[in-house]
Amino acid sequence: RASAEVKKDRTVVKALGLEVGGAKVAVIAGPCSVESEEQIVAIARILKGLGATALRGGAFKPRTSPYSFQGHKEKGLQMLAAARAATGLAIVTEVMAPEHVPMVAEYADVLQIGARNMQNYQLLQAVGDSGKPALLKRGMSATIEEFLLAAEYILDRGNPDVILCERGIRTFEDHTRFTLPLATVAYLNEKSHLPVVVDPSHGTGKSSLVASMSKASVAAGADGLIIEVHEDPKRAASDGAQTITPAAFGQLMAQCRRIAEAV
Ligand code: PEP
Ligand code: MN
Repeated sequence: RASAEVKKDRTVVKALGLEVGGAKVAVIAGPCSVESEEQIVAIARILKGLGATALRGGAFKPRTSPYSFQGHKEKGLQMLAAARAATGLAIVTEVMAPEHVPMVAEYADVLQIGARNMQNYQLLQAVGDSGKPALLKRGMSATIEEFLLAAEYILDRGNPDVILCERGIRTFEDHTRFTLPLATVAYLNEKSHLPVVVDPSHGTGKSSLVASMSKASVAAGADGLIIEVHEDPKRAASDGAQTITPAAFGQLMAQCRRIAEAV
């Protein structure tokens, strides 16, 4: 069960050097899409130097348009494995289909379930059976109740390692790509023992808002952040508008560390 009433101690999810739910704020950073081995190894080295605790990058991309870049698939997973070999960073990457779970689990340290798949129950069960920790993103129109029940599909298969991720929801607002509700963080911390991370990149869709929402997330009690970073955001294969540079990421890390000490 995901409920804090059923399990009193807080769940800490560990994968290589990544620890989510422990004393420190975990920072999962990297490009939206894995573009090439050179790109992902280079950014992984930079991010490791700036204090990131895990590397993100999509090999299977759930794109709104079927004509957009869909990811390098298994080759992308191999590129991520090369980045882990070079840096020791844990790999967080999305799996989109139940039949791909064994393949993605061979390369990844944490299996990401995307917002669009939050209620793909067969995928949730397959990830539950995989033996790998899961990072479950909130569906863009899912209630918190539905979000927690989706997490229970994974827990129910005997996999206790579930990280909840608030990544923004659809509202009438259109000044940001999604609306990022940070009360979710505090609410989930009351309701559930599972660790909570925030994705300020998808949550806002705007690189200029990522730093403030990251800091607010940490202040609200988030166990971690997942942030899109690219050496040249304008040239990113996907989600460039919400992607920050390594320099901005470095500044943000220092600020978040100070906030984490204060809360
Ligand atoms: C992503 O992390 O790049 C992504 C596609 O996220 P979401 O499922 O939250 O849209
Ligand atoms: Mn993205």
